[in-house]
Amino acid sequence: MTPQSAPKVGIVSLGCPKALVDSERIITRLRAEGYAISPDYAGADLVLVNTCGFLDSAREESLDAIGEAIEQNGKVIVTGCLGAEPDVIEKAHPKVLAITGPHQYEQVMGAVHTHLTPPPDPKRDLIPESGLRLTPRHYAYLKISEGCNNRCSFCIIPKLRGDLVSRPIHHVLTEAERLVGAGVKELLVISQDTSAYGLDVKYAVHKWRDRDYQTRFIDLARGLGTLGAWVRLHYVYPYPHVDEVVELMADGAVLPYLDIPFQHASPTVLKAMKRPAKQDRVLERIKSWRAAVPELAIRSTFIVGFPGETEEDFEVLLDFIREAKIDRAGCFKYENVAHADSGELPGHVPEDVKEERWHRFMAAQAEISAARAAAQIGSVQDVIIDASGEAEGEWIGRSKADAPEIDGVVYLSGAPDARVGEIVSAKIHDADEYDLYGMPA
Ligand code: SF4
Repeated sequence: MTPQSAPKVGIVSLGCPKALVDSERIITRLRAEGYAISPDYAGADLVLVNTCGFLDSAREESLDAIGEAIEQNGKVIVTGCLGAEPDVIEKAHPKVLAITGPHQYEQVMGAVHTHLTPPPDPKRDLIPESGLRLTPRHYAYLKISEGCNNRCSFCIIPKLRGDLVSRPIHHVLTEAERLVGAGVKELLVISQDTSAYGLDVKYAVHKWRDRDYQTRFIDLARGLGTLGAWVRLHYVYPYPHVDEVVELMADGAVLPYLDIPFQHASPTVLKAMKRPAKQDRVLERIKSWRAAVPELAIRSTFIVGFPGETEEDFEVLLDFIREAKIDRAGCFKYENVAHADSGELPGHVPEDVKEERWHRFMAAQAEISAARAAAQIGSVQDVIIDASGEAEGEWIGRSKADAPEIDGVVYLSGAPDARVGEIVSAKIHDADEYDLYGMPA
């Protein structure tokens, strides 16, 4: 139990799963020092807002969240990606107490100490071995690196977060082992560029469980695959070594799921985007992956209306998602992000054209997704249960093809004895565009 007198910090976490992992680390540090976490503004002595600064819409959302925290609580510290631009925050919200950038854990803690006196007697044993997580107990994000060596023209992440810094592989595997020991059933591997893992440390070798592992994507997948949990790989680029990971999928060591942020398919647009990894032969490779692992689900994100994108380029993109049968896709209309190089490119696409292309993309994607969902009817699949449904025996879960928060769900009924975090074998009897309906098999 946390002592009544412990100073309480409220946390507002915005942005991507990577920012969520940062919030979890900060919470772990706060709890380690004896602070309590408040679930609401009213009970908090101070509020920490972890912001996202990637797209203009995310920046707006972050600024709104800071405003709300100031209004509701008054004592606010800002951290995260938008924190890299303190002038923007100070201009909008001069009452903010302190601003720190992404991954500046020490600075965040310093700011908390300044504005909220630390408790005299930290209860270090309050923290579970795995740290504290914001995600439900049965799944956890595993951050393997910070920063990025690529310089995609639309992206300011390298400017905000710096070059790639990989965590040593034995640290990542030990953390994963602890998470699984603490009840986690699904590990979600995240980074800015998972395929580049270890490049900065020249793929250094470390021992884990009496075996040598290189700090490298394939070794990481192998190690994680021994833990008996679902392993889901995010932000993978189609470099040749993905073929090796597909072999692990065929063996059942990691989930048949690849999150590859293609962003586009037209060579001209990809060049203007300065994307890493050659995309030629990508279709061929996707076909060979699917031949090896027929249940493979590919998730991706795309940008439409990038500067210079012509109608022909856009048609190339539509043909690509149809032919590659990209199972799940997020699509964003290009936005000029402050300080991104793409803002200087010629041929900016009018908003109405972006809008029209976005709708055409989403319609094409919905067809692909619906066809995939319909093909699942009659199959028996493992479903991990995330939450209870509305009625007795109803649950909301996910198949191996669905990552939490971003993909579809499986509505399960007739399962009175199931519980959250359990993996249930279910027979799929119905489907709509994105979601499946099933009963215990
Ligand atoms: S790969 Fe490109 S889009 Fe992704 S973080 Fe690095 S620079 Fe940004």
